[in-house]
Amino acid sequence: MELRKLVKGIHSFQRGFFTTHKELFEKLATEGQNPETLFITCSDSRVVPNLITGAAPGDLFIVRNVGNIVPGLTLAGGTAAAIEYATEVLEVKDIVVCGHTQCGAVEAILNPEKLSALPTVKRWLAEASTVRDILDHRYGDLLPAERAIVAVEENVLSQLEHLREYPSVSTRLEAGNLKLSGWVFDIATGQVFEFDPVEMQFVPLSAAEEADRTSRTAAAMP
Ligand SMILES: [Zn+2]
Repeated sequence: MELRKLVKGIHSFQRGFFTTHKELFEKLATEGQNPETLFITCSDSRVVPNLITGAAPGDLFIVRNVGNIVPGLTLAGGTAAAIEYATEVLEVKDIVVCGHTQCGAVEAILNPEKLSALPTVKRWLAEASTVRDILDHRYGDLLPAERAIVAVEENVLSQLEHLREYPSVSTRLEAGNLKLSGWVFDIATGQVFEFDPVEMQFVPLSAAEEADRTSRTAAAMP
């Protein structure tokens, strides 16, 4: 997209969305942000968190990086800082790690030999090298297309495990103040799948399930 088109978009935003949501922006400017969800996803341009979730400004604290990776604690950087800030200061109640289909980063995790010209990317994706081991040990007989999907899913699950190693995350999980979710966005269909720890697989996050969940939550309320 040409930069000129982006500038045109800014004008259109100011005349349209901003004008109709002026009060929301004023409130956010005066009262500050209070997002309840930390959303960790890939830098891929086809994944647009606010668009796919319908979240408004102020709803999501977003971290994007190559491969939606949660690095180990020894690799201090932007992602680790955002996780610490979101949990310690913003006190988010949910953390979502959202991977996506056709992820070039996940493909590169499986084929690191292709990254010789990209030493920084290679170093970064090494944080997710366990995904390759899991694929080799547990899913050796998959067809390439299935292997690609499973790798995306296993990458999300690995990053959720990394999250649990962060002291600010584990403390809140133990206290019951935080929930971790693993999602995969399917670019071709627009569907979002969530890891179901009971079924031990990714299941469609559909409107029907959301209604069911809401009614179950309501029923559980005193
Ligand atoms: Zn990606």
